[in-house]
Amino acid sequence: MSLSRKQFLSNLALGSGGLAIMSSFGFMSVSVNDYNSLKAIVIDFDKCAGCRTCETVCSSQNHKFEINGSFVHGLGNPELSNIRVWRYNPPLDIPVTCFLCADAPCVEACPVKPHPETGRKALYRDEELGTIINDYDRCIGCQSCADACRTNRGGVIFPDVEGSPHGMCTLCDGDPSCVKWCPYEALSYLEINSEMDFRNMTPRQIATRLLEKYYDVETSKNAAL
Ligand code: SF4
Ligand code: SF4
Ligand code: SF4
Repeated sequence: MSLSRKQFLSNLALGSGGLAIMSSFGFMSVSVNDYNSLKAIVIDFDKCAGCRTCETVCSSQNHKFEINGSFVHGLGNPELSNIRVWRYNPPLDIPVTCFLCADAPCVEACPVKPHPETGRKALYRDEELGTIINDYDRCIGCQSCADACRTNRGGVIFPDVEGSPHGMCTLCDGDPSCVKWCPYEALSYLEINSEMDFRNMTPRQIATRLLEKYYDVETSKNAAL
């Protein structure tokens, strides 16, 4: 039986087993508070019209293809976007991209031992922009990060066929296209702070709060949520 590359890496990591995992318990992800002026995509749900331009722009920008040696923007495909717009009933549109969570539960969940020189797991925070990055060569494809993000936060990590995370916001290297192109100015690229509303919540939790605000309904009795 042949092993995929990820299965091979996984067996290696889990073969050295408890040691690798135990040694990562003390690993501290870099806190957002350690950054000066860390900026993230901040969403104004009052302004979002659910047009999904952000999904189209993001997927087009991040999935370019080559023609005669030149790279051109790809076709917009929401399935490939790093920002996803959740739709609820009664009408609510909830765009969600990486919150750059201070405690980064995705990084905490990664079982790969921190690299002895860089301190980075297979999933780590970029020191400059604060984005979450996957080291594909060290990733074992266990999907722990995707599970942690989906359970606790925005659910913005989408495993590829080998289980490695993709679909994480790159902030377009500091010049976010989704912010530029949102026709309703619902997206901003702002310095973040702990008081900002709706950060670090799941789309369902955000929808529950907004449903109460916009429709004045008791969400516990609402079948849609
Ligand atoms: S482009 Fe703006 S208004 Fe349209 S779905 Fe995205 S965030 Fe909402
Ligand atoms: S939103 Fe998800 S991917 Fe982004 S930092 Fe939080 S847990 Fe990690
Ligand atoms: S900042 Fe760039 S990568 Fe991130 S969601 Fe917006 S368009 Fe996509």
